Amino acid sequence: MEISEPLSAKDVKFDQSADVIVVGMGVAGACAAVEAHEAGADVLVIERTSGGGGSSAMAGGYVYFGGGTRVQKANGFDDTVEDMFNYIMAVTPEPNAEKIRLYCDNSVAHFDWMERQGVPFNDRFFPGKDPEHPTDETLSWTGNEDAWPFSEIAKPVPRGHKIGVNGAAAYAMMNALIATVKRIGIRVEFDSAVNALVCDDSGRIVGVRYRQFDEIHYAEARKGVVLTTGGFVWNRELIDQYTPNMALEGVIPHGAPTSDGAGHQLGMSVGGSLMNMAATMISIPIYAPESRIKGILVNKNGQRFINEDTYHGRATAFAMQQPDMVAYLICDAPSFGERNGYEALIDAWETVAEMEHDLGIPEGALQKTLAVYNENAARGQDPDFHKAAKYLTPLAEPPFAAVNITLGPVSAQGLTQGGLTTTADAQVLDEAGRIIPGLYAAGATASNIAKDSAGYASGFMIGESSYFGRRAGAHAARVR
Ligand SMILES: Cc1cc2nc3c(=O)[nH]c(=O)nc-3n(C[C@H](O)[C@H](O)[C@H](O)COP(=O)(O)OP(=O)(O)OC[C@H]3O[C@@H](n4cnc5c(N)ncnc54)[C@H](O)[C@@H]3O)c2cc1C
Repeated sequence: MEISEPLSAKDVKFDQSADVIVVGMGVAGACAAVEAHEAGADVLVIERTSGGGGSSAMAGGYVYFGGGTRVQKANGFDDTVEDMFNYIMAVTPEPNAEKIRLYCDNSVAHFDWMERQGVPFNDRFFPGKDPEHPTDETLSWTGNEDAWPFSEIAKPVPRGHKIGVNGAAAYAMMNALIATVKRIGIRVEFDSAVNALVCDDSGRIVGVRYRQFDEIHYAEARKGVVLTTGGFVWNRELIDQYTPNMALEGVIPHGAPTSDGAGHQLGMSVGGSLMNMAATMISIPIYAPESRIKGILVNKNGQRFINEDTYHGRATAFAMQQPDMVAYLICDAPSFGERNGYEALIDAWETVAEMEHDLGIPEGALQKTLAVYNENAARGQDPDFHKAAKYLTPLAEPPFAAVNITLGPVSAQGLTQGGLTTTADAQVLDEAGRIIPGLYAAGATASNIAKDSAGYASGFMIGESSYFGRRAGAHAARVR
């Protein structure tokens, strides 16, 4: 959508006003609105669609919580804030220690807060590895916590907390949050797209302009405007300018059609700076079934490049760094198991030599890799890549299957992670690092914790969107 230059308050007649205006009602916006309301502010939400929800309502429904949540304790996992902090710091490129510290210190309280808003979680644990388990158990492994090298840096515990319904589950979270927004009497303007910010003479953001069908409205924000319009996966210009991975062949934009960077552009229109804009989450999962983790990932030279028990986004990021981005998952019959309906199975062969030949791998290379792997696996060891012992079994039983993990021939969903640069209280910063008074951003409109595929865990995005959305609402409500 088209975003205009900022307007001067002198040229605008406001037709309504609130202390805090929240632009967009996905998970970040709903949490910002509820928190600002709880802090005593008069809140107005302006939402482009007829019901809200955004990408948040489409999501699988994992939220990254830890440090000893009720669900972790109920399942005998002894997590600590320190282990959670050390893990996220280690797995994240250029981590923001202040934000990660706050996120971890407050994770148990944030989980409790989400439950109080009616978001359904249960006390059950899904023990396997699945990119999105189809059942409703809340707790599951959704990152690299139990994979080398992270398993040696922080005590491995599961921190993915799935919303407790079957299948893609985050709609149930958004149903609960939007019901809360309505129940506590927060005003919401639906079918209303914000397309400009309004500033006073000092540069403070004091309102917004929005279009509701063919009417133009102006709303005053006495304390602050919170931008929570989601990511920019559907904005071709921003993608072309900042995010080369999203333009790669095979990458399918992943997100609600409203994820067109409106908030990024609104922020930029008043000098807001952007960060982490090249970052994406792109993934070609090698599991389920979990037995496929017993297979090996190789490049076009037949060489392994990562421990296969690593998170699927991390494995894909490493696959994309291989020559010509070519990568295969090689399994024997027991490790391949049943077809899952989404893998790009190339074929199956009676011998590794035939497979190697047909894949165009240099003669003998894959046979050698497999022989070394099998020899070590028989001893329960993986000296090269440190895959966990429970996934180490010699791959010896034909037929041998090759699954294509090459981005391009194989398509993968991609989402953006970059956004406006913000303080820990979600205040938007300009290029010089100065706070833009009255302007906040959270969720996929801002850059907080998630920084790339290799360090991602399912749940980081909803986790940070909800948490920093709340911080935005709380801070804006406190403005005098
Ligand atoms: C299929 C799928 C599965 C996913 N699974 C997970 C998962 O399991 N765990 C996880 O952590 N992350 C997951 N993600 C990522 C996660 O869903 C998003 O990053 C997160 O929900 C973003 O939340 P948000 O509130 O910032 O944006 P959104 O949820 O997109 O909300 C933005 C809202 O702003 C509104 N809006 C947009 N422009 C304007 C405007 N100009 N004026 C007014 N309103 C506007 C939109 O209509 C929308 O309601 C998944 C994403 C997808 C697409």
